[in-house]
Amino acid sequence: MGTSADHAYIAKLVHHGARITEQRKKLIHLLASCERPLSAMEIYQELERSFPRMSFGTVYQNIKLLADLELIESFVISNQLRYRLIDRDQPHYHFICMDCEKATSIPFNPSETPIPLPQQLTFVDFKLDVFGYCELCSDPGTLVSNGKKTNRIKGADRHE
Ligand SMILES: [Zn+2]
Repeated sequence: MGTSADHAYIAKLVHHGARITEQRKKLIHLLASCERPLSAMEIYQELERSFPRMSFGTVYQNIKLLADLELIESFVISNQLRYRLIDRDQPHYHFICMDCEKATSIPFNPSETPIPLPQQLTFVDFKLDVFGYCELCSDPGTLVSNGKKTNRIKGADRHE
């Protein structure tokens, strides 16, 4: 287990002097390998399989630590707080499917396509999430097939 992507994040933990525990490694691996951002409860439920004695509080503390060290970030989708790894190496934005919540990183470099900014303001960083429907979810034939949410956002089905 463990990919080179995981190792980059574990190296950051080491750099910050944080203890490298099996739970933290697994947490990083989970977020690195999951196609969509996860809530704290989902992370807990996944980790519980490997660490059945671990409490939700411990998992939450680990999430908070990784967030404090800026290895992961939180954002809101469907009114729920979700977590994802922060990738600073390649500038990108996220396309997030409002149906299956799959997140896709798409290369975007503000130095090539400058973000409109008044002259007196200094650009440091950006965080951009674009919401819509992925290829699979925008096909009406597959809407019900995953047995998950079928209620689309109001207005999304309006006729062109
Ligand atoms: Zn989708």
